[in-house]
Amino acid sequence: MDGPQTDSNGTGNGRVIDLSHHLSGEARNRVANPLKDILRVISECPVTDLISMANGDPHHSLYPFRQITYEVPSVQDAPDPVISWRNNSGLAQIIRSYKDQECALSIRDAFPYSRAAGLKQCIDVITDFTNLIFAPPNHHVTLTLGNSDGITKVFRLFGENGDHFLTDEFSFPSMTNSPLAYGVKWVGVKMDSGGIIPEELEKVLVKWDEVKWGRRPHVLYIIPVGQNPTGSTLSVDRRKKIYAIAQTWDLIIIEDDPYYFLQYDIPPNQTHCPPASPDEFIKDFRSTLIPTFLSMDVDGRVLRIDTFSKVLAPGMRLGWITSNKLFHLKLADYIDSSTQPPHAFGQMFVTEMLSEHGWKVEGFCRWLRSLCLDYQSRRDFLLDVFRREVESTGYASVNCPEAGMFVWIEVFFEKHPRFVREQCFGGSPVVARTNTEYLLKELFERLMNTQGVVFIPSSTFAIPENPLWVESDGHVPLSDRTRFLRATFGGTEEIIEKGMIRLGKGLLEFFQD
Ligand code: PLP
Repeated sequence: MDGPQTDSNGTGNGRVIDLSHHLSGEARNRVANPLKDILRVISECPVTDLISMANGDPHHSLYPFRQITYEVPSVQDAPDPVISWRNNSGLAQIIRSYKDQECALSIRDAFPYSRAAGLKQCIDVITDFTNLIFAPPNHHVTLTLGNSDGITKVFRLFGENGDHFLTDEFSFPSMTNSPLAYGVKWVGVKMDSGGIIPEELEKVLVKWDEVKWGRRPHVLYIIPVGQNPTGSTLSVDRRKKIYAIAQTWDLIIIEDDPYYFLQYDIPPNQTHCPPASPDEFIKDFRSTLIPTFLSMDVDGRVLRIDTFSKVLAPGMRLGWITSNKLFHLKLADYIDSSTQPPHAFGQMFVTEMLSEHGWKVEGFCRWLRSLCLDYQSRRDFLLDVFRREVESTGYASVNCPEAGMFVWIEVFFEKHPRFVREQCFGGSPVVARTNTEYLLKELFERLMNTQGVVFIPSSTFAIPENPLWVESDGHVPLSDRTRFLRATFGGTEEIIEKGMIRLGKGLLEFFQD
């Protein structure tokens, strides 16, 4: 055979890796929606004056809008656009979507029925952004309605009744909950303050007995930056180890990264750099971000899930999956026969925002950097108040997250007068030996009902342990380690300060009991 071999995943990087065996029965059985398929054929027709009487599309003259105006911060005119926007002191920039005048994605083009991956103009700007920031080797972009939509669709792509998926032992239940309904079970992998521990991941895979427990886990769902709920961020070293394990054990990695652009403690010379050319600014911005799993994915085994929820607004309901071609096509078939592509309003806004008429990629990066500084100062404020109001009680401590929106508050339940520790050896390694979980629940209720402040108790995020694959020697059951409260520093200083004062008071009261 002449010419280079291409791989079946379409990563185009010269490797021949067939990952199709990871697809679920549902994904294999799914065929392209015939109507969407014929629309694709029609869209590729070279005839310039093609008359379309093909589709049940309302004519654009019937759309009840011909112009949409977005008033956004002028990111070029302020050194810190988030602060000036918040204070109402900054200039605004007007971006418009038109039906008939020139713009990056017109109302006329955006609102007809479209096909799965999304509107070309929007995909193009997001693909350019993805290539610029993550530099993935020839992956493909599929638009979603945010990460919840992207992740739950990806779970269906791989999950079968009886499968086990891997994740952090404290994970995000809004995601881990969904595949339970069709019979996927979770295996929680031990974490520490740096996130999932690669050696623990490997241990699970080595120890897995396929005869007794069924197919070895083949999917790892992971939140590598500012992990929800613990706030941990995986180091480059851990990422490399995890990717190598994924290659050895043939894992698919689902990289759910909504907090990627909220990374803190950038060295001072990079935060207030002198005015640079747009390209230099983007390069400099990129250099402050930790390498992603996607950027190291030579096999096509990473599906990266991004969203605008945390950096524009959750109600945008717009995000994207970056994956190899095979998975992209399978996702497209799924979308074509279920939700259809995301709404046109969001796609139009993002396309204009990233285009010549809007912020452009450089302006968006300026916004992201400024947003990051804003969240960092909220984090620092919370930590200061925490030290004063909570740590001083001697009943709790907190981590300092490098990214994201959450701190993980550890409560010292062993100091509580009603703390019970039963020394029982030889029983199931997952049965609780303390009443930590009970005290945690009580604390949550007391803080809510008597102090008027709420945090999410760590038990909400704990992946239930299974005695089959949990080590019996020296293992501390997860229920004895669920001694945390998740707090967000996303709110205002007033909210943060009040919340911490109430937590301090609540702890003092609770521990006197
Ligand atoms: N994944 C994680 C880890 C999250 O923390 C969140 C939101 O809190 C989501 C996904 C949901 O993101 P989206 O709003 O894009 O659906």
